[in-house]
Amino acid sequence: MTTWLVTGGAGFIGGAFLRMFAGQPGLRLVVLDSLTYAGNLESIESVLLDPEVRFVRGDIGDSELLGKLLAEEQIDAVINFAAESHVDRSIDSPEAFVVTNVLGTFKLLDATLAYWESLSEPQREAFRFLHVSTDEVFGSLGKEGKFTERTPYSPNSPYSASKASSDHFVGAYHHTYGLPTLITNCSNNYGPYQFPEKLIPVMIMNALEGKHLPVYGDGQQVRDWLFVDDHCDAIALVLREGVPGATYNIGGDCERANIDIVHAICDCLDELQADCPSRPLKDLVRSVTDRPGHDRRYAIDFSKIHQELGWSPQRSFEEGLQQTVRWYLQHRDWVQRVRSGEYRRQGVRFADAT
Ligand code: NAD
Repeated sequence: MTTWLVTGGAGFIGGAFLRMFAGQPGLRLVVLDSLTYAGNLESIESVLLDPEVRFVRGDIGDSELLGKLLAEEQIDAVINFAAESHVDRSIDSPEAFVVTNVLGTFKLLDATLAYWESLSEPQREAFRFLHVSTDEVFGSLGKEGKFTERTPYSPNSPYSASKASSDHFVGAYHHTYGLPTLITNCSNNYGPYQFPEKLIPVMIMNALEGKHLPVYGDGQQVRDWLFVDDHCDAIALVLREGVPGATYNIGGDCERANIDIVHAICDCLDELQADCPSRPLKDLVRSVTDRPGHDRRYAIDFSKIHQELGWSPQRSFEEGLQQTVRWYLQHRDWVQRVRSGEYRRQGVRFADAT
């Protein structure tokens, strides 16, 4: 039996990862999540029923809890999804980003190092610490070029600065102490169960409710988009086959300006004949004051993971977007419970029961 500690598993990407890998023969999953506003146990309800999954409500900054969990569960790998992840929130209140993304990651690394040092030589060899990070650490690109693993870090927002700092600590723990770490830097994810504060779910829900579709500035900020399950496949591959100490860029080969994403969502809702109160949907688009310091363009060169580990995205953007829009159409009650705060009460019920 192999046991993975998955931190931040009640969030968007961690939840998708759990739904993909829970139930695999020979795999036990221990989920550690403090259930901030972004943690939603309803999203992983099916996973929590699996007897090989244990949920623990706790903070990655809690050294005592970490030490106990790692030893008690005989963890073979840590996959760190836990983070404050929303750029706009980091601009309004950066401190939580330092506390969780920088200090929390450091505490998690330190507890993991102490546990790793207590293992036998073969166990130490096989152990992995995988840190899930973002392409935003590289800063903003001009019209040309892509981020590679050798691009110097140049973070611009408090969110990306905190993630960059955490990446450096992870690298330092490999370089200094030999902890077998891996870092993945991925582009923008989208898919089912994404918290309705991020671009794609906001636009879908606003269109369904006949509200304006707010686009920052001229809408020409370019991001590379990847369906969340493709990201999770890449993470599992890096975990199993990545070289300790290495970093891997993950992307969708799918550069789109924000305004084009919004238009694609409108087209998709039209195609699916969604019941929207106001049409044409594109008339709902409104430009709003741009985010301060908004990066202009991100693009990922993922040739390293493609050539060394054989990974590439399995879905086109059109397929992934249609799957996502369909999901939100069928799960308006999920969004409703998030917006009303009901999901947090559910979370407490689950967490107390385990
Ligand atoms: P999310 O905000 O949806 O989920 C984060 C989860 O971490 C939540 O369940 C939250 O409760 C938990 N958490 C927060 N602070 C914690 C703490 N101190 N201790 C324990 N748990 C805590 O985030 P996401 O979109 O799923 O992103 C997961 C990771 O992937 C993050 O590290 C993020 O930086 C990275 N990433 C995200 C994207 C993206 O497009 N969403 C792209 C690339 C990388």
